[in-house]
Amino acid sequence: MKSAFALFLLVSTFTFAQSTIEQDITNIEEKLIKWRRHFHQNPELSNQEFKTAEKIADHLKSLGLEVETGIAITGVVGLLKGDLPGKVVALRADIDALPVTERNDLPFKSEVKTTFLNTETGVMHACGHDTHIAILMATAEVLSKHKDKIKGTIKFIFQPAEEGPPPGEEGGAKLMIKEGVLDNPKVDAIFGLHINAGTPVGVIKYKKGGIMASVERFVIDVKGKQTHGSQPWGGVDPILISAKIIDGLQTIISREAKLTDEAAVITVGKITAGTRFNIIPETAQLIGTVRTLDPDMRSMIERRMKEMTETIAKAYGGEATISFRNQTSITFNDPDLTDKMLPSLQKAAGTENVQLMKATTGGEDFSYFQEVVPGIYFFLGGMTSTDEPKGAFPHHTPDFMIDESGMLLGVKAFTQLTLDYLNN
Ligand SMILES: [Zn+2]
Ligand SMILES: [Zn+2]
Repeated sequence: MKSAFALFLLVSTFTFAQSTIEQDITNIEEKLIKWRRHFHQNPELSNQEFKTAEKIADHLKSLGLEVETGIAITGVVGLLKGDLPGKVVALRADIDALPVTERNDLPFKSEVKTTFLNTETGVMHACGHDTHIAILMATAEVLSKHKDKIKGTIKFIFQPAEEGPPPGEEGGAKLMIKEGVLDNPKVDAIFGLHINAGTPVGVIKYKKGGIMASVERFVIDVKGKQTHGSQPWGGVDPILISAKIIDGLQTIISREAKLTDEAAVITVGKITAGTRFNIIPETAQLIGTVRTLDPDMRSMIERRMKEMTETIAKAYGGEATISFRNQTSITFNDPDLTDKMLPSLQKAAGTENVQLMKATTGGEDFSYFQEVVPGIYFFLGGMTSTDEPKGAFPHHTPDFMIDESGMLLGVKAFTQLTLDYLNN
C-alpha cells in the first residue's frame, strides 16, 4: 500500500514535470470558460476597458511575464521570452464591448448600463471579444509553462477599442502601433482571430490576401448657386449634381473595378440638402463608405472617386470636393506566410476543418498591424448547437450568442501557430 502510494506520487510528479502542451491545453478549458464568463458579465466600452485590463495584467504577471499597461489608454502587452533565442511573434486579442443591451437569458448575462452619445444603453460583449481575451489569456498560460521549447519571444497584445474609439478620441490598433507596440522587441509576424457565431464549432475559416475590407468614410461637399425653385436657370442645382455624382460613383464599381479579382463597394448612406420645396439650395452633402479588398483597387477607386466628383460637378457648373477618413485598412493575410502556416492550422483543427472562405466586406482594425508586419487573421467557429448558419444571431445584436466549446480550438491554433513559426 505504502509503496504503491509512493509510486503514485513519483508517477504523478513525473507526469506534471513532463506535462505535454496538449494536456495543458485540455486542462485549461475550465479556466478559459470562467474567464470568458467574467468578461461577459463585466463588459467595458472602447477606451474604457480599465477593469478588463487590470484583470488581464494581473494574470500575465502571475505567469511571470514582463507586462506593460496603459498602451493606447487601456492596452496591455505581455512578453514571454523563450529559453532559446529566435524571432518575435505577436498574438493579438481585442478587448472592448459594445453599446448593446443583452437579451440573452444567462447566469452571467451583462446587466451593465451606461450613457453612450447621450443615449441610455446596456453594454454587452456582442462581438465576442470576451472569448478573444479568454483565449489569449489561456494561450499565455499554456505557453508560459513550456519556455524550454520556445525559440524566441512571444508578445501577447490585448488591444482596446477595436470597435472604434469614441468620437474625438484616438484608439485601437492604430494608436498601439503609434505608441510602439510592434517595436522593442520588433515583431516579425502577428496572428489574430475572430470568433464567429455563424461558423460551426471546430471549424477554422481563412483566406489568403484580403479577408476583410478596408473601411473608408467619405464626405462629398457640393456647391451650387441658390435660386428660386421656379427659376432653376437662375442658379446651379447642387441636388441634381449630387444625383449625377452618385450615378457616376456606382459606374466605378460596375464598369472600372475588376470584380473578378475582388469585390468592392461604394455606398452613399446620407444626403443632406435644402430647406423647402421651392428653393434650390446653395449646397448639398453626401456621406458614404467605400469597401475594398485589394490595395491596387483601393487606390484606383479612391483616385477615380475624386476625379468623378470634381469633374461631374464642374460639368454642371458647380464645384465639389471629396474627403476620405480611413476607419480600417485591408485585413490582408500575407500570401507566403499563409501558405507556410496553413499546416499549423490544420494540425490544430484537423485538415477537413480548415476551410477556405470568401472575403467579407466588413472591416477589422487588425489590418493596421498587417500593414506593418506580415500577419494572418482567421475565423473560429462559435456557432451554438441550436443555430443554423443562416439562423445564428449576428454579431452586434442583443441576442448574439457564442458556444463556449468552440474557444479551446482558438488556444490550440494560437499555440500551434506560435510554436511552429518560432521553431521552424
Ligand atoms: Zn464587432
Ligand atoms: Zn469583433
